[in-house]
Amino acid sequence: MAVNLLDFDLEGLAAYCESLGEKRFRAVQLYRWIHQKGESDFEKMSDLAKSLRGKLAGAAEVRGLPLISEHRSADGTIKWLFDVGGGNAVESVYIPEEDRGTLCVSSQAGCAVGCRFCSTGHQGFSRNLTSGEIVAQLWFAEHRLRGADGERVIDNVVMMGMGEPLQNYAALVPALKTMLDDHAYGLSRRRVTVSTSGMVAMIDRLREDCPVALAVSLHAPNDELRNELVPLNRKDGIAALLAACVRYLDKAPRDFVTFEYCMLEGVNDTPELARELVKLVKGRVPCKLNLIPFNPFPASGLKRSSRERVMAFAKVLQDAGIVTTIRKTRGDDIDAACGQLAGEVQD
Ligand code: SAH
Ligand code: SF4
Repeated sequence: MAVNLLDFDLEGLAAYCESLGEKRFRAVQLYRWIHQKGESDFEKMSDLAKSLRGKLAGAAEVRGLPLISEHRSADGTIKWLFDVGGGNAVESVYIPEEDRGTLCVSSQAGCAVGCRFCSTGHQGFSRNLTSGEIVAQLWFAEHRLRGADGERVIDNVVMMGMGEPLQNYAALVPALKTMLDDHAYGLSRRRVTVSTSGMVAMIDRLREDCPVALAVSLHAPNDELRNELVPLNRKDGIAALLAACVRYLDKAPRDFVTFEYCMLEGVNDTPELARELVKLVKGRVPCKLNLIPFNPFPASGLKRSSRERVMAFAKVLQDAGIVTTIRKTRGDDIDAACGQLAGEVQD
């Protein structure tokens, strides 16, 4: 199959151009055509040397993901379903806000972590996406939505779609680099967020290779409960996870980690657990808490915490001086809310 140029960060593209006997600076031109202009037809890349266009024609392509469907929510949220072959599909969600646009990107078809409250987790794992398939989601969305003024639409990317990004590390890093590169999307490091269920060794690697904003899906203040909700907690445990978060902050673009906490009625939403959470993090990990009302799906057997429960939980944290937000549910009329991304997975 032809080489997919979406797989490369700028370094990779420069090495590829060199392998074709072309100067490295040509890669910058090519990279800009692809990511800034959204062009996939080499013949239309008018200032690109004819010789390079000729060499690319047979060997390479800019291969986006085939679109299966597009759904638009009443609140402006858009969900796209992409075909990744073999009966698998992944989803991306665009979330417009007053002052910015966020794209929620998938990293895997399915997920092997198997969190109890997550519909992707219930499907099992099918395969890792390639760097090109991760970047293709942004490439598509940005150029689909960009108007005639050419102004950037997406200024925020969250790796919170399907999959555990740190279990697909080798593909993740070049994709992040393309999101950040000024010759491509030029996103600020503070506005690219990797969300992880907490793989300690990989958090340390990300800190060295490509420190972006970090969100950790905590969901419980003690190992007993977290082992039940997030099975991979059994490997490292919460103490090691928090230590990795603190190490990460030396190099991170923000001075806090975001802890996500999915509010499940009668499971992890009591005031006692909120107090335990305060003890766990206060004065130890600079953090913000983001409470996510659980988005139910049939097979989970779990329920969303009531508004009162969520508010009471938030109050305990806030009274202890921990910045706490409650995530607004967006796009639930099109099943695009957190944890509802199911795509289609052949396990
Ligand atoms: N695998 C990564 C990123 C994808 S999930 C992770 O777990 O962090 C993105 C966020 O959605 C996570 O915080 C996850 O815990 C949350 N989530 C999963 N299922 C959910 C559900 N049914 N309702 C609300 N949030 C959910
Ligand atoms: Fe995987 Fe994240 Fe879902 Fe857990 S919450 S199963 S890690 S996608």
